[in-house]
Amino acid sequence: MSSAGPSTSTEPMQEDLPAENMTSRDYYADSYAHFGIHEEMLKDSVRTGSYRNAIINNPHLFKDKLVLDVGCGTGILSMFAARAGAKHVVGVDMSNIIDQANKIIEANGFKDTITLVKGKLEDITLPIQEFDIIISEWMGYFLLYESMLDTVLLARDRYLKPGGLIFPDVATLYLAAIEDMDYKEEKINFWDNVYGFDYSCIKDIALREPLVDTVELKAVVTDPCMIKHINLLTAKKEDLAFTAPFSLTATRNDYVHAFLAWFDILFDCTHTKVKFSTGPHAKYTHWKQTVFYTPETLTLSEGQKITGRLSCAPNARNNRDLDISITYQAGDEPEKEIQYKMY
Ligand code: SAH
Repeated sequence: MSSAGPSTSTEPMQEDLPAENMTSRDYYADSYAHFGIHEEMLKDSVRTGSYRNAIINNPHLFKDKLVLDVGCGTGILSMFAARAGAKHVVGVDMSNIIDQANKIIEANGFKDTITLVKGKLEDITLPIQEFDIIISEWMGYFLLYESMLDTVLLARDRYLKPGGLIFPDVATLYLAAIEDMDYKEEKINFWDNVYGFDYSCIKDIALREPLVDTVELKAVVTDPCMIKHINLLTAKKEDLAFTAPFSLTATRNDYVHAFLAWFDILFDCTHTKVKFSTGPHAKYTHWKQTVFYTPETLTLSEGQKITGRLSCAPNARNNRDLDISITYQAGDEPEKEIQYKMY
């Protein structure tokens, strides 16, 4: 999924407005209704191409199977599944984009194979009660921001047959440290002096807001460390709030201005193990990477370690926002803890 703005944690649309009558207020309440966000996701060829490869290249897994597409959007994954030979596909989406999906399904001759249901998966009754396969593109920035993984886990517990498959079935989150002086200067230290005025109160807020952006591989100054491994077949909702220790070893002498996070996705149930990474070493995706600036600059020598722990939990008031804290220590410096908020 993409960053859909304010509506993603909220209720389904109250009104069934045709797209041509929707105003900016309606799109604010249902940002997935606009084609633009789907355009960004569909054009992310790493994302959409990986799902296509995982599904279309495995017709032996899909032939004559019942498939549930959680958050079907424009219906692209449902159509891949139908192409791969599924007996029937049910696509669910709470956004008005599903009205377009219905037209797309019909225009492409899938009316008899794909049934779309409008509504929040948690609240609706599906025409089929047991599925062989669940497909879903649920990942948000930093994997879990605005993520609908809890919805996919609920769909699994409610609708997946024993031994059923989930596409994708493994997600892994990584952390490293980066040298990022120029951009930190522009984004964080900028607030120290704005046309000669002291704006440093904003600097404190800016620092606590993780930045989603692309980072060049050469900025990475430590080995990566895995901080979370999610097996979708077995994960529980409670696992999505976690604390993970990390140890990052410097690969050269350099300064550290920030931590960097990214995730990898694996379709482990496929023959060829289709996978993709959103890391700085991999091809661009719309998820980019996530940067967590530290208040001070650390100095590392090759082989030296930064140790610490990262905690991540859904915000109590809005469960699609994330409260993230990073505690870290290097050399003789005292341990530090920074609280970040993704919203
Ligand atoms: N599967 C599509 C769209 C992915 S974006 C594609 O790959 O291109 C995720 C979609 O999930 C959005 O359209 C959003 O409206 C929908 N969604 C999010 N939470 C949902 C929920 N709880 N119930 C139903 N749909 C949901």
